[in-house]
Amino acid sequence: LHAMARAIQGASWRSAEESLQNGGEASLSLERAAFISFHACPLAAPGQGKSGGMNVYVRELSRAMGDSGIPVDIFTREHEGVQEKVAWIAPNVRVIHLPGGPNEAGVAELFVHLPRFLEEVQAFREQERLEYDIVHSHYWLSSWVGQRLAKGLGIPHVVTFHTLALIKMQSRAGEVEPDERGEVEREAMLNADRIIAFSGHERDAMARLYGADPSRVMLAPCGVDLTKFRPMDQKEVRRKLGLNGEKLLLYVGRVEPLKGLDLLVETAAQMEAEGENVRMMVVGGGGPGEPETDRVRRLAEERHVDDLIEFVGRVDHDELPLYYNAADVCVVPSYYESFGLVALESMACGTPVVATRVGGLPTLVHHGHTGYLKSWRCPEAFANSVEMIISSERLQESLGTAARRRAEMMSWPNVASMISDEYRALSTAG
Ligand code: UDP
Repeated sequence: LHAMARAIQGASWRSAEESLQNGGEASLSLERAAFISFHACPLAAPGQGKSGGMNVYVRELSRAMGDSGIPVDIFTREHEGVQEKVAWIAPNVRVIHLPGGPNEAGVAELFVHLPRFLEEVQAFREQERLEYDIVHSHYWLSSWVGQRLAKGLGIPHVVTFHTLALIKMQSRAGEVEPDERGEVEREAMLNADRIIAFSGHERDAMARLYGADPSRVMLAPCGVDLTKFRPMDQKEVRRKLGLNGEKLLLYVGRVEPLKGLDLLVETAAQMEAEGENVRMMVVGGGGPGEPETDRVRRLAEERHVDDLIEFVGRVDHDELPLYYNAADVCVVPSYYESFGLVALESMACGTPVVATRVGGLPTLVHHGHTGYLKSWRCPEAFANSVEMIISSERLQESLGTAARRRAEMMSWPNVASMISDEYRALSTAG
């Protein structure tokens, strides 16, 4: 059995990490994989609205699969701003846009459009006479489509949920989920041939809350582009961004209640009260008019730290390494993160992370080694950890070096190799 299978059967991070270090092992060749990413087009710009880590994951995983010689077709719903039905994003990877409900429909209204989308995928496959070995679905809406597509073709179905309703609802961010979501997730959890969890925390929750069989859950982390996200000369990048000498705290991500930006504002207020000379940047989110951005801005005004916090708005993924490198600390204050790509990207740039101890973040951030984890949403505790880092160049450097080293295990080619080895094992078993 290859290293990959050990990682899956044992389902421990230790073995998954070993497999990542080994880069997996090649065996049978695969004809073609179908990704169902109904809700997250890999062409959408991440960091605003609903586009974020899932869009990046689908894009980067498929590209790495394509580079390794496995062609991937990604089926997604048509959306504004894309003219072509079929768009190539890498030599072996194409995105196929099919009708899937009105452009402006929110997640809650999309469920009724899934049967039509499934028919469209089937028709496209038949018309092009495509043979798939595997269906890999991303998010609960896609799992409904993928389960039926795979069953019809008699091939294995792999699901990555990215987030799960029952876990999110426990996170206290007060989000309301569509009625059908929990049931659809449960159906996929019980029927899929393999479920990919990003962390042991997620795998345990799958078993506890949904009754998933842990032996069918594979642990595989998200990845990072190590050439793009790499340590750079801090003075140089700061000059490019027009920054001067103050210490810089960075937030990167979508701006929505689950991301817990209130804690960021409170941390800034705490640090200001202690006389620290810091600056904060919030990268991501829309401009004025986006409800959560407006709410966080108002809170910053109330706490008199609006002059410390710059709301930069969305930044292109390719430009983000500049921001991570300019920062002294990256703060991840989320109520819940199934993985936390931002933390991994920051670590890959050698910038320590201070994060809430939630979801998948503890598998990435090793407390006291690559950054700090905080169990309570307490501004004093966050401020303390940030202050510790920014007041000692030696500490900042040693955390940053360890962070980069840890991130180096999680390149996209390594992650793709783990997952494609599993595709092969499932195809052979079937
Ligand atoms: N991102 C980006 N530009 C921005 C803000 C965020 O490209 O202005 C990207 C970020 O680099 C990361 C993703 O959006 O890859 C967010 O992923 P994460 O897992 O942190 O959060 P999610 O969106 O999945 O909740």
